Amino acid sequence: MTSTTHANEETFAGRTLKFTIPSRDARGRLVRLDSTLDDILSAHDYPAPITHILAEALVLITLMGSLVKEDGSQVTMQAQTEAGAINLLVCDYKGGELRGYVDFDEDRLAALGANPSLFALFGKGYLAITFDLATGKGRYQGIVPLEGETLAEACETYFLQSEQVPTLIRTAIRSDGGKSFAAGMLLQNLPDGEEGRERLHARLDHPEWEHVAILGGSLKHEELLSSDLSLEAIVWRLFHEESEVLVEQGQAIGKGCRCSVEHYRDVLMKFPEADREEMRNADGIISVDCAFCSRQFPIEA
Ligand SMILES: [Zn+2]
Repeated sequence: MTSTTHANEETFAGRTLKFTIPSRDARGRLVRLDSTLDDILSAHDYPAPITHILAEALVLITLMGSLVKEDGSQVTMQAQTEAGAINLLVCDYKGGELRGYVDFDEDRLAALGANPSLFALFGKGYLAITFDLATGKGRYQGIVPLEGETLAEACETYFLQSEQVPTLIRTAIRSDGGKSFAAGMLLQNLPDGEEGRERLHARLDHPEWEHVAILGGSLKHEELLSSDLSLEAIVWRLFHEESEVLVEQGQAIGKGCRCSVEHYRDVLMKFPEADREEMRNADGIISVDCAFCSRQFPIEA
């Protein structure tokens, strides 16, 4: 048993786990963000509630990003508000590369206490999910109100309202002595029984889906976060009575950003010279921030 567990950890460490349950027309994704989460959070010095919400957002973007097949596709999540303590939360996923940041008001956040609700953080906010598909397949975006208890609930609403796909999402976040752990599962009904086919009529009262959703819904926070339980073991625990469950390796996950001197120079060269002149400091340098990495790039352009 021990050796099996180790083998499984090897198989899915730093990766998403993808599974399908053909007889129930369901598919799922599981992920634990280990060192990737450390890498992203270490660029910032966020207070606990912001670390928590960003960790959840990163799990969600990984689960959603791993639904897209085409290499080079990008999935972006933006949570925005008009009057909350958080002005903007952004994260994206491209080919297994993750990044994210939160722009917030420190004083207003401090006034909310240790465990602010989603509503306290965002006020009347909304969540935009954008899929930029590679290979010329286009771009689509869905926007839903930022309601419910968690970002995960808002993402479930996105799938139901924008894609008419019943979806169950569970996330678990824990902080321990300055280190954060984050994991999640996405479970989704595929009415046509095949990935990627057009959904002519999603049946929301699908009995097969109800069954899978009840099993998936029994997943506990502790199970998602337990290092004694591999991702494969979680799938087995939840669905071992199903006739067939297919499990495969998803993409390797890591922190990734597109910021570089070259990238920003290319962007700046697209501006009119008069605009660049206004941006230059006394030394003739244009300073550009990457909010994802909390880094400044001095650009000569
Ligand atoms: Zn960056």
